[in-house]
Amino acid sequence: MKQKLYITGVTGFTILFLAWWFCLPNPLFSDPFCTVVSDQSGQLLNARIAADQQWRFAPIDSVPFKFATALITFEDRRFYTHFGVDIRAMARAIRSNLLAEGKKSGASTLTMQLMRMSRKKVSRSFWQKLIETAWALRAEWRFSKDELLRLYASHAPFGGNVVGLEAASWRYYHKPAHALTWSESAVLAVLPNAPGLIYPGRNPDALRQKRNYLLLRLYEKGYLDRETYELSLLENVPGPTMALPDLAPHLTDQLIQQNAGGRSLTTTLNGNLQAEVQRGLNRYITTLSRNHIHNGAVLVADVASGEVLVYCGNTTERENEYGEQNNMIVTPRSSGSILKPFLFAQMVQNRQLTPWQIVPDIPTQIGGFAPRNFDEQYSGAVKADAALAASLNIPAVRMLREYGVPSFHYDLQKLGFSTITQSPGHYGLSLILGGAETKLWDLVNAYREIPLVLSRDKNVNRTDGIHVLRNDEYAEKPQWNLHAGVAWSVTEALSEVKRPLIDVNWLTFSSSRKVSWKTGTSLGLRDAWAVGYDSGFVVGVWVGNASGEGRPGLTGLQAAAPLLFDIFNKLPNRPALPRPGLYIQAVDICIESGMRAGRHCGNIESKDIPLPALETVACTFCVPVQLDASGRYRVHKLCYVPSESREEKRFVLPPLQEWYYRRNHPEYRGLPPWLPECNESASGSVMQLIYPTTTARVLVPREVDGNLESIVLKAAHRNAEAIIYWHLNDQYLGATSGLHHLEVSPEPGNYDLTLVDDKGAVVKETLTVVVGR
Ligand SMILES: [Zn+2]
Repeated sequence: MKQKLYITGVTGFTILFLAWWFCLPNPLFSDPFCTVVSDQSGQLLNARIAADQQWRFAPIDSVPFKFATALITFEDRRFYTHFGVDIRAMARAIRSNLLAEGKKSGASTLTMQLMRMSRKKVSRSFWQKLIETAWALRAEWRFSKDELLRLYASHAPFGGNVVGLEAASWRYYHKPAHALTWSESAVLAVLPNAPGLIYPGRNPDALRQKRNYLLLRLYEKGYLDRETYELSLLENVPGPTMALPDLAPHLTDQLIQQNAGGRSLTTTLNGNLQAEVQRGLNRYITTLSRNHIHNGAVLVADVASGEVLVYCGNTTERENEYGEQNNMIVTPRSSGSILKPFLFAQMVQNRQLTPWQIVPDIPTQIGGFAPRNFDEQYSGAVKADAALAASLNIPAVRMLREYGVPSFHYDLQKLGFSTITQSPGHYGLSLILGGAETKLWDLVNAYREIPLVLSRDKNVNRTDGIHVLRNDEYAEKPQWNLHAGVAWSVTEALSEVKRPLIDVNWLTFSSSRKVSWKTGTSLGLRDAWAVGYDSGFVVGVWVGNASGEGRPGLTGLQAAAPLLFDIFNKLPNRPALPRPGLYIQAVDICIESGMRAGRHCGNIESKDIPLPALETVACTFCVPVQLDASGRYRVHKLCYVPSESREEKRFVLPPLQEWYYRRNHPEYRGLPPWLPECNESASGSVMQLIYPTTTARVLVPREVDGNLESIVLKAAHRNAEAIIYWHLNDQYLGATSGLHHLEVSPEPGNYDLTLVDDKGAVVKETLTVVVGR
């Protein structure tokens, strides 16, 4: 009988013990948190309310000393010594309740209060208290005192929908909890006890009274000296909650999309710089809005670390009237000319080009594709680096044709241009003129490679691409084995501050630092790009309309470059990029062609060439020419006494290039005419104008609606394969082949009509256009 009782007793105790041991849920709290985005130094950039509409930040690492001290002093003096239940306080409470002294004494320890928060029960019945006590005793087994304090600070209610110390600190004082003063800590320490009663802004006197009581206790215990105590009493109690910072909202959206919300994310951003650049962007776009240009984006990355310092996905001041909520850093847009430096670099690295080599700039038609330069002019031949700086389209298209669309397409994919998803044939040669879309993010990531290979800093991060989160495993680095010598050539070509073609005072762009930069403009003036870099930073700018609407003046040079330089002026100065001495070598270069000097080149200079370009072919444009004694005519040994002739080295362009080149190069001599007795092929012209005939007055009839009708110019060529290029007053009209008919609608007046064939033969006529009936 006694034994039976004993077994029942042990069993009963075991069941009770097990019930107690497993009573505590794990984890203690499963509430959703705010999405909190901070900068590299922990400064709050942005926060979004938790899924349950509470301002509850993720648990903090440690509870600040001032708050912890104030809280323990106010709520639970023996917190560090009791085991979850404070027997002395409990006895006192029971006595005072029995004596019905009116004032209800709490006697709940912080641990018990924490259990009540976890159980989310508002009732304070005896039964509930008993459960809280059991839980509290158990919790003291599982958690250290510091962990309990941390849980308390993270989940305590602070009035309204503000939960946890960190959220409260930001909502009431606009600062992180570790920066709270004694007075502020005291206010927040008294709030969880009765958050409804003394909700800040509602009952300031009661709140002040409670705070002052706590400050006095802290002073008496020696935590505060007299001066701090007196000054603390003078501080105001907080008013209604404040709005949280709203910096980098587009990044916050992006991070929520990538990582799901409810997390605290420390980014690589520089909060102060972010705020300054965002203000600048807002101001800038407000100005452009007068021209109906409403959106812009800026991305700034640190070259060495790849860390993104500024992320402005759009303007932030206005409502979503013009698509301001769109994150234009990750929106694919037409690339314009912004990819040209990569083609230049690849061709130099591939031994196809020296950086200064001339490339043709002449009327070009390739399979129905007729690229035009921005200014509709032709220079005949232009150095590759100058063509890049001036962003000439025809040289770029001809370079791409030589390099190959599939090769360049492959390069761009390796460079991380994630939006180039179609086949090479889909883009064709337009790939270099904006036929493909790109994102500002990918652009900055790819451009960073250029200064990165030139950097000799040992601490440089050479394995990650640009990234916004610390230890971001998704930061993909472009796979580009860029040669340092080639990177140097690109950098030199892009650091020309003065850019031709546009009549703007470019001196305003010259800053004290050397910036290498490139602009781009998409077809139809829809997108303005500018990307620049120095040794420290890569800056990318996009300006346009999220709707895709094009506007006059929406060009890379006019709309994006000014903002780019404005941002560089905000960035700290860095030393110039080092010259990569091991990767370049001085070599003789033909001044005329920019190719490696051959034995017939007359004008030579020594230049530092990237090592791969040492293997380019020697100059193919300079030839030896036999001249007569006067030096005015070409001769050959069958028609002229060799001893009286002399040889000269001449730079000679193909005929059509020569025809355009001469206009801007009066020093160009080319080939002199043959001495008449030496010219075997001078058997009349190969090309003839059929209509209008010599010095004709051309009657252009007026149509019924008053417009002038067009006329058809006609010519014939001896060679059936020939192409004729037509010009009116040096304005290029178009090219014909086979049937040489060209329709034009000239206004009345006098014109010079010039025909040039693909071999350089020229026919000129003057004509007068009059209106007839
Ligand atoms: Zn030469």
